[in-house]
Order: sequence, then C-alpha cells, then structure tokens
Amino acid sequence: MKDLAGALAQRRAQHLYRQRRIIDGPAGCRLQCGDTTLLSFCSNDYLGLANHPEVITALQSGAELYGVGSGASHLISGHSRAHHELEQALAEFCGQPRALLFSTGYMANLGVIMTLTGRHDNVFQDRLNHASLIDGALLSSARLHRYAHGDMQALQQLLEGHARQNSLIASDGVFSMDGDIAPLPALLELATEHDCWLALDEAHALGVIGQTGRGSHEYYSLPENNHRLITIGTLGKAFGTSGAFVAGSIDLIETLIQQARTYIYTTALPPAIAHATLTSLKLIRDEGWRRQHLHDLIRRFTEGARQLSLPLLASETPIQPLLLGDSAWALQVSEQLQEHGLLVTAIRPPTVPPGQARLRITLSAAHQADDVDRLLEALSGLGLDKIPL
Ligand SMILES: *Cc1c(COP(=O)(O)O)cnc(C)c1O
Repeated sequence: MKDLAGALAQRRAQHLYRQRRIIDGPAGCRLQCGDTTLLSFCSNDYLGLANHPEVITALQSGAELYGVGSGASHLISGHSRAHHELEQALAEFCGQPRALLFSTGYMANLGVIMTLTGRHDNVFQDRLNHASLIDGALLSSARLHRYAHGDMQALQQLLEGHARQNSLIASDGVFSMDGDIAPLPALLELATEHDCWLALDEAHALGVIGQTGRGSHEYYSLPENNHRLITIGTLGKAFGTSGAFVAGSIDLIETLIQQARTYIYTTALPPAIAHATLTSLKLIRDEGWRRQHLHDLIRRFTEGARQLSLPLLASETPIQPLLLGDSAWALQVSEQLQEHGLLVTAIRPPTVPPGQARLRITLSAAHQADDVDRLLEALSGLGLDKIPL
C-alpha cells in the first residue's frame, strides 16, 4: 500500500501542498472569507458575469421553467429546449455550423480527442496546454507529441515525421497560466498543409479577445468556418456560469453525439444553467463596454508593472503572471499580499513547469482602476524587481 501520509508530508516540505479556501459569498472581485473581505485577482470571471443580476434572474426563471436537474443524459431524455437554443446561439457566436454542450471543459476536451484519435494516430500538443487536452490524448491511446511552447518550427518537424496518418493538433487559444495568445494563423496553415484537425481550446479567449469577444479567430481576423478547426469553449469563465461546448462542422458534432464517451455517459447540465448562459451570451454580445473596460485595466496594470520592473510575462490578456520561480517564495509573496487584503494565488508545479512558480494575476471587468492601483501599490513594496531571471 502507498504511504499517503509520507507523500503528503513530502509535498508540504516542498511547498507544494494545496489547500482550499472557503468563500462565504458570491464570486466577484471582493470575496468574503469568514470575517475578512479580500480584493481578489484570481478568478476567471473576466467580464464580471458570475454574479450579474440579469444572469441570476435568468437562472431563477430557468429553474421555474425546467426545474433543477436535467434528469438524464442528452441522448436519453435530458436534452431540453434551453440546451438546444444555447447550442444554436453558441455555434452562431463562434462562426461554426454547429455546437454541442458538455458538462465541463475537461470533459469536452477528453471527448473531442478520444473520439477523433486512437491507437496508431498522432496528437500534437503545445507543451503548455491545459491538463485536460493532455489527458484526452493519454486516454485516446494515440501517440502524444509535445512541442516547445509556441514553437511552430518544432511542430512542423514533428508533422513532417508523421505524414499521411490521422492526426490532431491541440492548443490552448489563450494559455491558461501564461496568458499569451497561440499563433492561430500558423497553426491553421500547418493543420491544412498536413491534413490535421486543429482543436483550439478557447476557455480564456471567448468573451475576452477579438473585437466582439468571439475569440482567437476574430483576434486574428481569420475567415470563419474552416472545416478542420474545432472550437472548444468553457462557460465557467467569461460566461460566468458552468459547462462547456464544442463547435465545429456538422459531421464533427454528429460524430461526437454518436461516440464521445464524456458526452454520452453523463447527466446533461441543468437546463436552467443553459437558460442563464443565453443571457450571459447576450451580455457578452451587447455590452462591449465590459471588454473595453477590461482591456483598459489590463493596459493600466501592465504599464504600472513595467514602471515597477516587476517580472511580468508578456501578455495582453487578463491573465498577467508574475514569474517568481521558487514555490516557497511565490507562497510567501501571496501571503504578504493577503496581509494587504489582496488575494492572488501562487501557482506551483505541476500546474506550471518546475522552477516556474508564479503569481497568476487575473483582471476582470468587475475591477475598477482603483483596484488595480491598490494591487500595484502592494506589489511595489515587495522587492519583486530584484528577481534574478
Ligand atoms: C478551465 C479550463 C478547462 C476546463 O474547463 P472546465 O469547464 O472548468 O472543466 C479547459 N481548458 C482550459 C484551457 C481551461 O482553462
């Protein structure tokens, strides 16, 4: 039997032990934890919709219309009118012919990769891809090839070594721990040249980048409706609700309905969540000022951080990591910020590579300029400009 206590003690000694914090109120920039209120810079609620009054009302009326649970999987009797309408609206939003709801982004990624690839096939992935993309490849039994972050030459070489095999390239659209944007035009070109699927995980892109929040293809002004592009979106981030979807060609979606195990063998999302997400989508589409305000805050933060010589990674998205390196130090800085009433979590291995512990700062349209200034002020006193990188 494995020595769990020993392994836990070792984890603690390496400053890798993880603990949960209990939050006593709604998600937002100000989190209530027992008696303390913390100004938070670590949620993925980029547009401040998780606690938006219209979304809450929509969830309530969704519950009136549909009850609480969906009662079954989509293929049995759990596929409601609300799910169906949301799928159509999401497909339109992503510029894809169809979309399919999944219960979580984790399951959507597993479903896509496990359905499209198997033994003797190849999956090519950026080294910094989200764990769910990696796990999808592992479960599919396909050969997994990982290329250095953003290195299109390395990817091209790998692709050339595996010509004429069924292959899939997978990449985060916006990288979850670094905040940089994947080189989608180059990825699409390579996918086309080598006849591969391209699964693009838009968890941190939808609602956030592109003029109207439609994500990476809009950011790069690429034409819509490329039949090899598969868009995966999550609803628990900028949408402020829960769940996920895959958008792509009609044949892709029909294939997923027939075969994706993480779609078939699980209970459908509560329909009220789908109903509420229709309202989130409307706010994302109609209230461009949220995105505008968010990008103003991002600029304010990056300019301030540059003036303070903070060890900021290059990112134009709401994910603004400060690279500290050492896990113990990242924890310590996070604790110091908490003494100032600020919540920024330390992200440590294995979520990030060894020696790359960081503070993952995220901004939201629910923040105000004053909040950003308060964060910069607190960061300025911590000696972070003296990091040997
Ligand atoms: C959060 C996230 C997921 C998982 O989505 P859930 O709906 O939370 O399961 C997948 N991919 C990326 C890049 C993510 O950041």
